[in-house]
Amino acid sequence: MVRRTKIVATIGPASGSAEMIARLLDKGVNVFRLNFSHGSADGHREQASIIRAVCADKKINAAILGDLQGPKIRIGDLHKESLTLLDGGDITLTIDDSKAKTDNCVSVGYKALPGSVAAGDTLLLDDGLIQLTVSGVEGDDVHCKIKVGGELKSRKGLNRLGGGLSAPAITEKDVADIELAVELKLDFLAVSFPSCADDLIPVKDKLAALNANINIISKIERAEAVASDDTLNALIAASDGVMVARGDLGVEIGDAQLIGVQKKIIRQARRANKPVITATQMMESMIHSPVPTRAEVFDVANAVLDGTDAVMLSAETATGKHPTKVVAAMADACLGAEQHPETRTSRYRIDKMIETTNESIALSAIYAANHLENVRASICLTESGETALIMSRLSSSLPIYGMSRHQQTCQRMALYRGVVPILVDLNDGEDNVYHNAMMTIADTGALQAGDRVIITCGDIRGSGGMTNTLKILEYPG
Ligand code: PGA
Ligand code: MN
Repeated sequence: MVRRTKIVATIGPASGSAEMIARLLDKGVNVFRLNFSHGSADGHREQASIIRAVCADKKINAAILGDLQGPKIRIGDLHKESLTLLDGGDITLTIDDSKAKTDNCVSVGYKALPGSVAAGDTLLLDDGLIQLTVSGVEGDDVHCKIKVGGELKSRKGLNRLGGGLSAPAITEKDVADIELAVELKLDFLAVSFPSCADDLIPVKDKLAALNANINIISKIERAEAVASDDTLNALIAASDGVMVARGDLGVEIGDAQLIGVQKKIIRQARRANKPVITATQMMESMIHSPVPTRAEVFDVANAVLDGTDAVMLSAETATGKHPTKVVAAMADACLGAEQHPETRTSRYRIDKMIETTNESIALSAIYAANHLENVRASICLTESGETALIMSRLSSSLPIYGMSRHQQTCQRMALYRGVVPILVDLNDGEDNVYHNAMMTIADTGALQAGDRVIITCGDIRGSGGMTNTLKILEYPG
């Protein structure tokens, strides 16, 4: 059984060594995430070079995603290690640092705070663990009642239920990290907290100025980004892929809303031919525990049924106690969900007109693969990976072998659901290309005499987006 759903693992102190990277690849990681919210530039440089070296050694095409910190709104440094906030007590958030030296006053660097909130608003600290109700705003100060208390530490995140706190789209640190991502030739760049498509412009301008070719993954984590279908769809259209960033999004819109919103983001991303990652607290208990809870297994499985390309691990692999076990548990949950009949056939866009030749070939290929007897695989000969991506928007139980002579295309395809990237150069005479492609798969032992493969290809090699041919071959044995 080839697992179709991909696994993104965040790298950190628990998982950064060459030995751990190799073990994580063996357990099934497809994409490594470097989190620019933590660590130094040199640390990330070293990490990227370890990952690339281990992948080259093992001849595995895995991608690296760099995740920008973005303008996350946080409280400032506390005057002591931690504060204990008691239910029903009072606390003031202030933008005047000089006042914040007591047990019931905390500084916030976000200068627009007093102007952005009003009495009755709910403010959430530390990913929603602590809840405050605004009782009034007075000059630089926001006075709050503690609705749900807890231990508060320095620099924890601050969100408003319903959204509405927004800082400039990218920070100085992000600009430096974009330069780093380009230097390291990362495959994907995750942009944190965009509230609409225009928020990507500074990132795109910076990438254009650096003449860089890196795919942008927009993290959907603001209430504003999902407030209307138009805003969400425009943001998806302006991105190369998206992440359902449930950590912040769940805090801003509430977990109950998130259930439907996750399904909507995944559906809309797939319709727009974009890959989608489902992230955060998927197997949170495995930070400490060697086995997941059943609820976590079901959460991963449900994201698979929703149609996600990939499921992501954060602290579980970055700092957790069981990085390899959690990847194995996640892979099992994905495989289990992929047994469900719903994930095996597709009525995707069956009633919609198709826009391009490329799309017609891609959709027809998978339709045929799902409906013709004895098809074992689809093979997509691709320059840019675009056709493989479109093919992978349809549900199927059969693998799509994405064959490319470009290393970066292979790395990008590592994220696409159902696509097995293979780095090859089949270019020895046009007639032989199809035969050679089929033999590449046969050589792995995946084909028996009489099996069929479906192959898509363009007739102008060297340019992306030109797929215009679909062939069905029978393996003679
Ligand atoms: P983060 O993003 O881990 O960088 O906060 C993911 C999320 O918010 O879910
Ligand atoms: Mn986030």
